[in-house]
Amino acid sequence: MNRNVGFVYAHPDDETFGCSFLIRQIADEGGNPVLLTATPGNAGKTGRLGPMTQEELAAKRRIELQQAADILGISEVVHLELGDGKLKEVDQNVLAAHVADFLRKHQIEIVITFPEDGMSGHADHIAIHHAVNKVVFAGQVPSVQKLYYNCLPSKHDANGIASVLSVGANGNWQMKRDALAAHESQIWSIERVFGDLQQVGPESFGAEYFQLVWERGVHHPHKQEQSIFDDLT
Ligand SMILES: [Zn+2]
Repeated sequence: MNRNVGFVYAHPDDETFGCSFLIRQIADEGGNPVLLTATPGNAGKTGRLGPMTQEELAAKRRIELQQAADILGISEVVHLELGDGKLKEVDQNVLAAHVADFLRKHQIEIVITFPEDGMSGHADHIAIHHAVNKVVFAGQVPSVQKLYYNCLPSKHDANGIASVLSVGANGNWQMKRDALAAHESQIWSIERVFGDLQQVGPESFGAEYFQLVWERGVHHPHKQEQSIFDDLT
């Protein structure tokens, strides 16, 4: 199962929030999860770390992301170092070219990214969503066979969307907790979603959901999958 799976996100921590179980599962099955993060995430809060310059926060978040990546089993993290909070100001073709370079260089076969609403509505997330769509839908990178959106369970239930795969903790919830804890500067947003990491138990971690939106030129194929690796050539 030596498959290359590319996670395309905007900020350090996006991967841990939405995809920890999936990434760890891919790594455990012998696959190769690779992450592209577009910005250093240095325009935001610092949690309980107190005041920091943007340079200090960028350095801190890079270390945090590497710690989380080690826990999740990500083999390589690629940093674009674009402006945090400013991705929608980046020329769409430029952003798409960065994504295409990443997918081509790592011979990515399966791509995971944000859904239409960016999951949280964050403008950087939505800019990444569009850049990935542009590259994948145009078939710009021949190695890419499938695109999934990392979606929220509420959306999946409300829309009755077909072709949604859920990946549960499978006894691995402490792994996700530890990866979240690695993103120390982001502890406030982590606590808002998951609760106090010192206190949480397995019930704080629901499944992660992935909607298959494109497979070798077909948009929204209707099928039931057991794994993102189903039906690869
Ligand atoms: Zn983000």
